[in-house]
Amino acid sequence: MKIITDESALADFDGDTPAHPDIFDHASRSVGAALAALAAARQGETVFSLMRPPGHHATSDRVMGFCYFNNIAIAALEALATGAKRVAVFDFDVHHGNGTEAILVDRPGAAFFSIHQHPCYPGTGTGDVGKNCFNFPVAPRTPRDEYRKVLTRALDGLKKFKPEIVFVSAGFDAYVRDPLAQETLEAEDFHWLGENVRTLGVPAVSLLEGGYSTALPDLIFAYLQGLAGK
Ligand SMILES: [Zn+2]
Repeated sequence: MKIITDESALADFDGDTPAHPDIFDHASRSVGAALAALAAARQGETVFSLMRPPGHHATSDRVMGFCYFNNIAIAALEALATGAKRVAVFDFDVHHGNGTEAILVDRPGAAFFSIHQHPCYPGTGTGDVGKNCFNFPVAPRTPRDEYRKVLTRALDGLKKFKPEIVFVSAGFDAYVRDPLAQETLEAEDFHWLGENVRTLGVPAVSLLEGGYSTALPDLIFAYLQGLAGK
């Protein structure tokens, strides 16, 4: 067997996802933070992992789209493996969480809800997949009030599933001035999303996914304020 380390990697995984020095360690820590967030949520804490790299594009066998390990899917699987009977992933990153979907599709006890711009990277998520993956594609430049209606529809579906733990792929790239997409949300919409996650009334594990504007810290703060009921 030949073990390839970051020093000996010969090529990047793809154009978006380089074989950075020490990326294995960084990606492993991001997974570790997701698992720590799960433990904290189970203790009743309001929790958010700021760690990167993000994860929702990574499948079980493919690194892509800035994502190396699928932090949120790993944490959801860990919850199922340690007693949870019903878990849901709510993915409001502006890109489709194709990796999370690929890992959770038709997995008993899991459901996936993704709201994302289409057309946009990675091009998937145009319709529901399997029995448990529900996709809500949104056209570029959809007005905020329309976008919120779609988010509400996804949340309504999630509530009907009655998860005992919710995992949130919190990406902030549906922001109006994000350079990687063409959507319209403002900071107060992310506050509203935090409030909606809080009022689900079950442990919630929020992990940072995308978000590429200089306003990212403010957008995260708005979400945290909503999550904390402030
Ligand atoms: Zn994204």
